[in-house]
Amino acid sequence: MTSSTTWMREASRVFVLVLVAAAVGYIFGKALLFVALSVLLYLGYWLNQLRRIQHWLASPDSEPPESTGVWGDIFDRIYNIQRRNSETHSQLQLTVDYLRDSFASMRDGVVMLDGSGTIEWNNKAAEVSLGLSYPGDRGQPILNLVRTPEFHRYYLAQDYDSPLLIQTNDDPVRHLQFEITRFGEGDRLLFIRDVTQFIQLEQMRNDFIANISHELRTPLTVVSGYIATLLEDSEAMEPNLERPLRQMGLQADRMESLLKDLLLLSYLENTRDEERESLVDFGSLLNELQQEIRETFPNRAVNFSLECDYQLPGNYKELYSAASNLILNALKYSPQESEVRVSWVGEAEEYLFSVIDQGPGITAEHLPRLTERFYRVDSSRSSLTGGTGLGLAIVKHVAVGHHAELRIESVPGLGSHFSIAFAKP
Ligand code: ADP
Repeated sequence: MTSSTTWMREASRVFVLVLVAAAVGYIFGKALLFVALSVLLYLGYWLNQLRRIQHWLASPDSEPPESTGVWGDIFDRIYNIQRRNSETHSQLQLTVDYLRDSFASMRDGVVMLDGSGTIEWNNKAAEVSLGLSYPGDRGQPILNLVRTPEFHRYYLAQDYDSPLLIQTNDDPVRHLQFEITRFGEGDRLLFIRDVTQFIQLEQMRNDFIANISHELRTPLTVVSGYIATLLEDSEAMEPNLERPLRQMGLQADRMESLLKDLLLLSYLENTRDEERESLVDFGSLLNELQQEIRETFPNRAVNFSLECDYQLPGNYKELYSAASNLILNALKYSPQESEVRVSWVGEAEEYLFSVIDQGPGITAEHLPRLTERFYRVDSSRSSLTGGTGLGLAIVKHVAVGHHAELRIESVPGLGSHFSIAFAKP
């Protein structure tokens, strides 16, 4: 039955009630009194229905009261809404339970935090990796329970773009990766992954490259030495041997540079943060480099503009290598008569080391991959210049190790601009 029909019926019932009361009242000569009594009766009925509805709503699990007419319709409708709500609620609860179950069974630790950083829930894996206990630690601030200073810095900085790697003091040492994502209204999900095995594999790979590079250096030095000795005595040498020997010498030199760069890369990967904390006068470092460049490339125009005397916390050897790699690249990949500009300046939010050349430039599609090991834009160009393909990988490593950013801008045909930006403390 539609609600308008129910209302029509209710109105007719009231009308009939008042009419009958008026007729009976008329017989007794008290029509008005009977009409008033019938209206009071009807009001009483409505009050009773209101009492029943209030009583029913106060105990939501009870069945709706029996009634007919408008009130029956109202009870039915409220009951239907209640049922639908409780079905939706059960569905939502099922989804929440399902998600919690799946989080609970994850091998990675998961901690749900509210906007103020207190623990709402965590899974078993988080109990193992962080020593939490649920539900005992529910409502505790995470910073009170995970006391590692690196985690405090990471959590409070609120910059969760990249994960945080922490080495624990346990025996044996474990490596944990922390990652935070925001959800809802300021809530956070903290993931903790044990990456000890991955780090150990990385270390093995790194050690292997370092060892093999080291082992290859000695025989290579012997070969280079003999080639140099043979070339020195060119008068006694067969004329047709001179060219191949010179080629062998050049290739041996390239291999030596390659081994040197590989050793430097593995040194960079093993350097601890504490080894990058001494104050380096980058301006003096560039002055030293300027001297060296002038002696090695007396005919090249290299313009140094050193306007900043900031001493940055870092590792002198690494910074020297990064700066010289960028300047040597600029010289290698630009015409002999063109100018290379080197600058070191303090800007509003950062200190900027820049190298600008007027070389052929690099097209945009190569820029994102330029710092990969052995990535070359043009292998023929690089083999002519004798590059190892590791220079920019080294620069990138040094920049990351110094919490700095390597930026590359280039316009094909006009030149390239490489810079390292150190954020102001
Ligand atoms: P390489 O030892 O080959 O120079 P790098 O890692 O230093 O290796 O550089 C990677 C590639 O980036 C180079 O092979 C070269 O193609 C390109 N490149 C680097 N610097 C410049 C530059 N200043 N101008 C043009 N191309 C460059």
